[in-house]
Amino acid sequence: MIEKSNIYVTQPALPPLEEYIEYLKQIWDNKILTNNGPFHKQFEKELAEYLGVNYISLLANGTLGLITALQVLNISGEVITTPFSFVATTHSLWWNNIKPVFVDIEPEYFNLDPEKVEAAITPQTSAIMPVHVYGNPCQVDRLQEIADTYGLKIIYDAAHAFGVRINGKPVLNYGDLSVLSFHATKMFNTFEGGAIVCHNQKTKQRIDFLKNFGFAGETTVVAPGINAKMNELQSAYGILQLKYVDEYIAKCKALAEAYCEELKGIAGIRFLYDPPGVKRGFPFFPVLIDAEKYGKTRDEVYENLKKHNIYGRRYFYPLISQFPTYRGLPSAKASNLPVAEKTAAQVLCLPIFSNLSMDDLKKIVSILKS
Ligand SMILES: *Cc1c(COP(=O)(O)O)cnc(C)c1O
Repeated sequence: MIEKSNIYVTQPALPPLEEYIEYLKQIWDNKILTNNGPFHKQFEKELAEYLGVNYISLLANGTLGLITALQVLNISGEVITTPFSFVATTHSLWWNNIKPVFVDIEPEYFNLDPEKVEAAITPQTSAIMPVHVYGNPCQVDRLQEIADTYGLKIIYDAAHAFGVRINGKPVLNYGDLSVLSFHATKMFNTFEGGAIVCHNQKTKQRIDFLKNFGFAGETTVVAPGINAKMNELQSAYGILQLKYVDEYIAKCKALAEAYCEELKGIAGIRFLYDPPGVKRGFPFFPVLIDAEKYGKTRDEVYENLKKHNIYGRRYFYPLISQFPTYRGLPSAKASNLPVAEKTAAQVLCLPIFSNLSMDDLKKIVSILKS
């Protein structure tokens, strides 16, 4: 049960209702509810500009984005991916009949470790699906080098990477495709929603066919597509969210800085600083709890916060490789994924969202300090 007085790991940022009602009136007026309507077109254009990308296709959600992205590039066989993510990353492979091959993460930002990717490549490997976990960019140049050497595609799960830039360049412009999620729990939400970023008009056209049953014209179906379209309610809401997103990000940045300041002296608690040259969105505030140095385990901290009505989340625990569907895979063995296993056992995401007050943040910190 959601209780109003509780503090959860996140809370959706909502734009002013009166402003949304104006958009609703227009939808009621023009009676276009979906299928590339006027708000869909406008949101797509404004979002591409905001994110600094040339081609973007809006979708009903991020999971359909990942599933569709694999279809867009005709990926098959085996795909190398990370176990330290939300289950949808690997599920998208399963839904395409692709065998996931888990590779360990690096210990600094918990993204796929490029140095371990090469050893997992087989003649069946056709792509790499890394995740920019917590919005910290993967080692994009190194991954591209490997992909180029072995003739592999890269599809980034960029669900956490809204607005992230490396030295001014949008992280979404790396790899072949990047998939965003606008789920209610993300930095930027459209209730549910998502998008695929690509780099040329032909690919965008193929995505647009695939998300609409494969229709290329009134009577032409070019592929076994799916229904993954974003509707006008979501699109109009997205246009409105774009007006406020910089405000949301600025508030979260201030909260993240306050956490860093407050937590920095505590033995056994580690947190992540921004990687050099990176601008990001602060969708999460993960800390790692070293039980030996801190004196309590991660789970004890998690339970203790709950007693104070503060609900952190153990993202990402358990690892995807531990779920029944995947744990039988040879690459799912704990011995193959030592860094991911250790991280999953120590990590706790503390509440961060634009409406979190500094007082509540201080309360959370004081519980961690006591
Ligand atoms: C949220 C999330 C998804 C799924 O996106 P939906 O829009 O909820 O379908 C996929 N991958 C990661 C890493 C996520 O955090």
